[in-house]
Amino acid sequence: MRRSILAVLVIGSFLHSAIAGSPDPDEGDALDGFSTQHARTERDWEKKFRALPDGQKQRDYMQLLSARPHHVGSAYDKQNAEWILSKFKEWGLDAHIETFRVLFPTPKRRLLELLAPTHYIAKLQEPKLADDPTSGQQDEQLPTYNAYSRDGDVTAPLVYVNYGLVEDYERLQRLGVSVEGAIVIARYGNSWRGIKPKVAAEHGAVGCIIYSDPKDDGYFGGDVFPKGPMRPEQGVQRGSVLDFASSYPGDPLTPDRGDPNAPHMTASNAPSITKIPTLPISYGDAQPLLAALTGPLAPEEWRGALPIPYHVGPGAAKVHLVVESNWDLKDVNDVIVRIPGAVEADQWIVRGNHHDGWVNGAEDPISGQVTLLEEARAFGELLKQGWKPRRTIIYCAWDGEEPMLLGSTAWAETHGRELQEHAAVYINSDGNDRGYLTMEGSHSLEHFMNGVARDIEDPETKLNVLERDRLKNINRAKSDEERKEFRQRPDLRMEALGSGTDYTAFVDHLGIATLNLAFEGEDDGGIYHSIYDDFYWYTHFSDTNFAYGVALSQTIGTAVMRMADADILPFEFTDFADTMEKYNKDLQKLLQSKQDEAREREQELKEGAYRAAIDPRKPTVAPPPEDIPPHLNFAPLENALDILSKSAEHYKSAFNKAEASGFQSNDKQSMALNQKLLQSERRLTDPVGLPRRPWYKHMIYAPGVYSGYAPKTMPGIREAIEQRRWQEADTEIAHVAKVLEGEATLIESAAADLDAFSK
Ligand SMILES: [Zn+2]
Repeated sequence: MRRSILAVLVIGSFLHSAIAGSPDPDEGDALDGFSTQHARTERDWEKKFRALPDGQKQRDYMQLLSARPHHVGSAYDKQNAEWILSKFKEWGLDAHIETFRVLFPTPKRRLLELLAPTHYIAKLQEPKLADDPTSGQQDEQLPTYNAYSRDGDVTAPLVYVNYGLVEDYERLQRLGVSVEGAIVIARYGNSWRGIKPKVAAEHGAVGCIIYSDPKDDGYFGGDVFPKGPMRPEQGVQRGSVLDFASSYPGDPLTPDRGDPNAPHMTASNAPSITKIPTLPISYGDAQPLLAALTGPLAPEEWRGALPIPYHVGPGAAKVHLVVESNWDLKDVNDVIVRIPGAVEADQWIVRGNHHDGWVNGAEDPISGQVTLLEEARAFGELLKQGWKPRRTIIYCAWDGEEPMLLGSTAWAETHGRELQEHAAVYINSDGNDRGYLTMEGSHSLEHFMNGVARDIEDPETKLNVLERDRLKNINRAKSDEERKEFRQRPDLRMEALGSGTDYTAFVDHLGIATLNLAFEGEDDGGIYHSIYDDFYWYTHFSDTNFAYGVALSQTIGTAVMRMADADILPFEFTDFADTMEKYNKDLQKLLQSKQDEAREREQELKEGAYRAAIDPRKPTVAPPPEDIPPHLNFAPLENALDILSKSAEHYKSAFNKAEASGFQSNDKQSMALNQKLLQSERRLTDPVGLPRRPWYKHMIYAPGVYSGYAPKTMPGIREAIEQRRWQEADTEIAHVAKVLEGEATLIESAAADLDAFSK
């Protein structure tokens, strides 16, 4: 799994008075949270650090780590963990491996055949390519499958459901097509893959096939591999379909390792395992199936790039699907490094990227793992030269991310109590490409991250990466309003965190302020989770000279150092308060549009507009009437937001005043303040958790129950509105308001501490 490429398109704005002249970012600037003197030495150390990451070394590590398939439980996965451990030790770092035993199903039987009107047996096999030296390691490759699909043997008519989203089924209903008792075929994209079998099962389907349409990542986007980067005819996207968003990620058998009272599950009752058998296929295998469909023509936006008319079905097309797994327990091996802090050793800066892949996994995850390794090597160097980080730094090379965040979740849950007490931030990556810096994270870190990005040079344009992001956003803005914000808002907006990678347990379950970072957006590809995501592909079609690999090491390493070394933890809350205000407005708009839609539908039903518009020879069904959503009481939230922005402003002015006087605090004062700041993200959680998914404790960010990776902000409120639970929406508004009031109280108290500095 990895971050969403789309996130890069919606990054916000930034205007800095100094930007036009683009001053040497390394010289003379003050640093938030550092005394004047300390800022100077910090900048010196950071400059030394940024000269160290080496692209040739990253290339060598990648060649080695992706030389053979390294999925969970494979010999090479274990060997990689041990190799990573040996490198950390070679660089003088204190490292060890932590092992957890988890459920990891692997394919035993896979069969997909079209029984009528013609006969076709799906190949379910990605061929070896002559140009690509690692593509022929078939003995070690995991066959194409969706991990945590329930076992099953089903024969049923076939129905095409587009991306398989909730709204696609509403459309099917209007076309008069039901999937009750059918096997659905959905295309990859527009949602996390596990949503497809989940929603299909909720509509009565008995099996789910997911295929990669050439329109989404195949020849529609360019030449296919090995001539180009896109998905070839028999390329298949493997991947987990564990329903983590409505229950919990990690090992399905241990809902929360940190909780001694958590029930122990079995493979047959674990709530996160799919309800119906699911299998991924290539477009080569999908075409005969789709071509056999009759019934209504698919709506225009449902049609992909195969040279056939896309029908929805059902019809004579009948398929037989068999999925059976070995439900075995396997070890995951997390490699953990600890660099003890010199002053505030009990405050931790945690950084991670996974090392396991679906197959050879060069781009996902090794391109991120090699940036982490070069950060660690550089820190080893700096420590030898006398650098003493104020706080403790913990580096983590996770195992078992691909099946469903197994290694990171097990580690975060096991160390949950300590982490909640000690962790200031968690910084994640999960692969890297060429392009723009994508910044996602907790909004109390937005201002901090803007400062870091301003100090990193884009290797190709030589702009600082923050300025490049901002100018790109202006150029691609979709409205004048957007463009204006890109030009005028002091900080570039960060996107909220959804899920799909190892930060999930840290932010959603433990409430640790989190960042997720990568360069991306310039290279397209169609090798995701296939045997073709390998060294050959990466070094021909992505960051071929590892220049952006070096830039990511520089970006994340700088962030880690600055967080670890600051006298006062550089959290900032006016950006946070502004973002919460924005979410409040978004929610009210969402409710308004639901009301408008329901009213319009009611009127068109009354007028007979649907009936009149329908072609009598291709009958469709009018949508059912919907209750008009009631007004909701947003007052508690708005009152909380007022208090929040007031305390954020107070903190900011107290911070600036303290900074102007050079942070004349004693260590005792700063440490007491840091202890408060460290808890600021924790205040956004509630032990009760979100409705029907208590593992998710964060009240501001969560993955969507019906979107998967994509974030839902203020999720309790938002999903209640989307799912038309009006009473719950009102309750959740009050719930979020209470959490934000608690946050405001903490910020206010931290501001009072700062005021005392300058007295
Ligand atoms: Zn990944």
